Amino acid sequence: MTTRKRVFVAGHRGMVGSAIVRQIEARDDVELVTATRDEVDLVDQRQVTEWFARTPLDEVYLAAAKVGGIQANNTYPADFIWHNLMIEANVIKAAHDQDVDRLLLLGSSCIYPREAPQPMSEDTLLTGVLEPTNEPYAVAKIAGIKLCESFARQYGRDYRSVMPTNLYGPGDNFHPQNSHVLPALIRRFDDAARNGTEEVLVWGSGRPRREFLHVDDMAAASVHVMELDRETYAANTEPMLSHINVGTGSDLSIRELAELVASVTGFRGRIAFDASKPDGTPRKLLDVSRLARLGWEATVPLDRGVAEVYEWYRAQGHDVR
Ligand code: GDP
Repeated sequence: MTTRKRVFVAGHRGMVGSAIVRQIEARDDVELVTATRDEVDLVDQRQVTEWFARTPLDEVYLAAAKVGGIQANNTYPADFIWHNLMIEANVIKAAHDQDVDRLLLLGSSCIYPREAPQPMSEDTLLTGVLEPTNEPYAVAKIAGIKLCESFARQYGRDYRSVMPTNLYGPGDNFHPQNSHVLPALIRRFDDAARNGTEEVLVWGSGRPRREFLHVDDMAAASVHVMELDRETYAANTEPMLSHINVGTGSDLSIRELAELVASVTGFRGRIAFDASKPDGTPRKLLDVSRLARLGWEATVPLDRGVAEVYEWYRAQGHDVR
């Protein structure tokens, strides 16, 4: 009988964690381990230490995080930096203390400087000033990369990081103010299409460009990177054993995104722009050549992905977070 590796997905109820669970739960070489917040609150160091001490593990996907859109990040900066720093520090240290040799941290493309050359390669980390609207969150995610790197360099741990572009998918947060742009627009255009509203307001100028990756692609990429052999990961993240970008390699403007969502939801009215809302970073397209060299690329085209998420959203009624 083969022994199954015990794999902990931290954040299994979130959009990304649940997608990773869907990827690995059917595998016969994996014994999935999850824990609800009631069982272990990841911001509480003592709870995390005790939970890891009584839970044998081989691998950890660190997909637990406090995330939100541009306005949520701007309004609750303390929550974003504090929760993310605590979760990363607690989980990474507890994994190390219990001799869990492999861990994968999930981050975000907002770690790169606001004016980074496009597409942004992994090497542009810490070469310039960050975008202010999400700097506290980005600093926490940079700290997470550095935690993984540092435990790798000092203790020889195989702790890795992947940095996804903007993600979307089933299980997303559709809150009108606090969500990311894609679920926010799905909700607003769907409401307008069904109520016969003539105009939909989109935040900012419509000119910023963003790249969108379906969460099932992100989950597949995470498993791909987790399962690279140690030498391959190290050889591709030298000299610091740093991180790997995950994206589609193409972006579009927020105006184009709004037009796509209008067409998917059947909205035929006017699209207007609300200049009182921030644009955020002008562009953040990831350079995905490192991951491409390692044999992975995205598979879900944006129009199909948005149509599927719209179906999912409608199927929920309005019982979404
Ligand atoms: P960002 O990628 O960190 O800036 O996060 P968001 O997904 O929140 O925003 C992306 C871009 O979409 C920004 O330029 C926003 O101003 C723009 N945007 C347009 N309408 C909306 C909306 O209703 N909600 C959000 N969150 N962003 C919007």
